Amino acid sequence: MGRVSIKVSGVVQGVGFRPYVFRLAREMGLTGFVRNTGSGVLIEVEGENEGTSGFLGRLKAEAPPLARITGLDVRELPGGAAHSSFRIIESGAEGSVAGAVSPALSADVSADVSVCPDCLKEMSDPSDRRYLYPFINCTNCGPRYSIIREVPYDRENTTMSAFGMCPDCRREYTDPANRRFHAEPTACQACGPSVFTGPDGKNGARQNPITLAIRELKAGGIVAIKGLGGFHLACDAGNEKAVCELRRRKKRGNKPFALMSGSVEEIKRFCHVSEEEEQKLLSPERPVVLLRRKKECALPSAIAPGNGLLGFMLPYTPLHWLLFNYPAGPGGPGGPAFNALVMTSGNLSEEPIAATNEDALKRLSGIAGYFVLHDRDIHTRVDDSVIYEVSPASENIPFFAFARRARGYVPVPIRLGGAFYGQKKTGRKRGNAASGLFDRPQVMGAGGDLKNTFTLVKDDRAVMSQHIGDMENPQAQKFYLETLEKLMRLFGTKPEAAGYDMHPGYHSSNLILGSMGPDIPAGKKFAVQHHHAHVASVMAEAGLTEKVIGVALDGTGYGTDGTLWGGEFLIADALGFERAAFFRPIPLPGGEAAVRAPWRAAIGLLGQTLPDETVLSLAQKSGISGRRTAREVENILKISKKRELAPLSSGAGRLFEAFSSVLGLVDENTFEAEAAIALESMAWEEDMKAEYPYDTLEGGRQLDFSAAFVQAIEERARGVRPAAVSARFHNTVARAVSETALRLSAGTGIRTIALSGGVFQNRFLLEGVMGRLSMAGGVRVCTNRLVPPGDGGISLGQAFIARARVMQ
Ligand code: ZN
Ligand code: ZN
Ligand code: FE
Repeated sequence: MGRVSIKVSGVVQGVGFRPYVFRLAREMGLTGFVRNTGSGVLIEVEGENEGTSGFLGRLKAEAPPLARITGLDVRELPGGAAHSSFRIIESGAEGSVAGAVSPALSADVSADVSVCPDCLKEMSDPSDRRYLYPFINCTNCGPRYSIIREVPYDRENTTMSAFGMCPDCRREYTDPANRRFHAEPTACQACGPSVFTGPDGKNGARQNPITLAIRELKAGGIVAIKGLGGFHLACDAGNEKAVCELRRRKKRGNKPFALMSGSVEEIKRFCHVSEEEEQKLLSPERPVVLLRRKKECALPSAIAPGNGLLGFMLPYTPLHWLLFNYPAGPGGPGGPAFNALVMTSGNLSEEPIAATNEDALKRLSGIAGYFVLHDRDIHTRVDDSVIYEVSPASENIPFFAFARRARGYVPVPIRLGGAFYGQKKTGRKRGNAASGLFDRPQVMGAGGDLKNTFTLVKDDRAVMSQHIGDMENPQAQKFYLETLEKLMRLFGTKPEAAGYDMHPGYHSSNLILGSMGPDIPAGKKFAVQHHHAHVASVMAEAGLTEKVIGVALDGTGYGTDGTLWGGEFLIADALGFERAAFFRPIPLPGGEAAVRAPWRAAIGLLGQTLPDETVLSLAQKSGISGRRTAREVENILKISKKRELAPLSSGAGRLFEAFSSVLGLVDENTFEAEAAIALESMAWEEDMKAEYPYDTLEGGRQLDFSAAFVQAIEERARGVRPAAVSARFHNTVARAVSETALRLSAGTGIRTIALSGGVFQNRFLLEGVMGRLSMAGGVRVCTNRLVPPGDGGISLGQAFIARARVMQ
């Protein structure tokens, strides 16, 4: 090659990309320059260098771990010998290339990154000037999204602007050969943030704040710890008393606590960890990974009551790492201090996570008796992400799905279309579906009300917000509007149209429709049906533009007929859908009350097809009448016949929870889907292929599972193990779902099946459905891999649909 210019797009700023290019070019004896632009990085190189071992080949292959190159635009330039050396040109400095965009706001902002091995090595070296420094970072690691106020990503635009660099740090920061060259949050003990601990977050100057915190945790205390994107509430996971006390104070029922251990080896003492899960635990994103608990796991069951899974993560800030690895010595604890810590988000039930010192001291002081604070401000709250492995027989390699998408992943854009879909990458070529999405209107999806996220779409990229939470909470609504405004600015996008859930009571919808939301003309706000949005989230990920058979299974969504849907088979494309089949709606006696108390739904379901005496005798046999009272059961049965007191719902979630209740597992949910999770956990204990029968109505348009309930109750009364009964039930639903999808496929000629909805977080069910579909053959099955299948993912589907409608 002679002289070429290379435009690199993707996540290439704030990840050490320019120094990397600098070192590579120098090593290869090339001349030219590299600079940040508004849309990425621009390189000009000159010199002999062709082939895969040449500059272009190596540029992509050896890129820094955090860089994500999504495009390389290479152009030959005329002439030669324009440069005598290779240099880095500062943003906005001389040498700006004519025609380059102003530092506009379209370069992708990096997500926060866990502490890297190089920094850990320095931090463990007593001779290093950052020995045991809890805020060590470099161009490959450290805070990003949580501290950035404005783009471009420069120190003065982050919360690190409060700290002036010492001469040593400045020298590293300005030296292109140094691994901290332009590491914006770089700091050391001489110039950077520091930690304070104590019952009020103030320790004496002569005390070591970290060892004080470790001592407090070892003594069984509940400690609020400021992390990367917010506070955690922590306690020693091996201390049952502390765990129970934390659960009591946090008022969160039986909702599972996340855990942190110092190493994968420690985690393996408690859980089964596959090779792929190990890789995810160690990845720079450091998510919480839901792992199967070992039989011999010694941790108190109060961490995740009735749940076969434990959520584990590894330390992701230097401060976390120190809690597990502080060296022995005077005042030091010596050796690993804990096998595991509970690290649950620092909030009360459904409020957003606390992020400022003042907020934490105010809101968490009723829960934590001790605080670990620091003075690096968190500008944007980001919760921990939660993922889990799915390994259906139909796939060679397991894949991962999101239960919650936040820290480590947000705000890295999701490329719409097939390029990132599946295990096989198709090389540099982009799918047709994706390239067709360029130059299309900028749109947003408002999300749902539970586990809310919103999504902004620009060109072929979708930026999904971090987990916002339960929109019923006024603090969550405030967090939503702040984050929306901020992400619009960071990505230089202004939506021209929006999709929102058609549920008239949703706060997310009302925010978008009201005056607080973005400035979008009324005619360009589109009400989107909940399950259509679920299905469309899969279409957006996979780049599907043709019609699909969409299967959306969840708890509740508002249907176009005003009733509650949630067991849906939709023949859908981006513009619309037809409700082709659904789970037979069951009465929910007391409405919302039955969502909290699945035993009511069980009585409603039985009462729908059976005479009252039979229902009462089954309630007796299943133990429901014993756990409640016979009178209560009779009363609920009566109510279930009155439509105004017992609305119908086709929600698949309701069905699983009702089944959990007849097995005597959970009669009342203390958190969303508790009964269903207990039922699934049970199913894994049994290798059971058998099924119950199921019925269809209206020529297969409705699926009825009441026969399974009756048989299950009889079997339980005969002493069949609940695990076997649960597995049989899961198999029954998996068969009914796959048979219905295949029948619709055969009837319409549509060969793509899209599975989504929160009920598909049930891996036993998802793997069962995927396995059966692939065994039948002839269909392509797509599921969510980049966004959650639950309501945390619907904003992507809404945006996808809104874009199609506005272009119509
Ligand atoms: Zn580092
Ligand atoms: Zn310094
Ligand atoms: Fe849903």
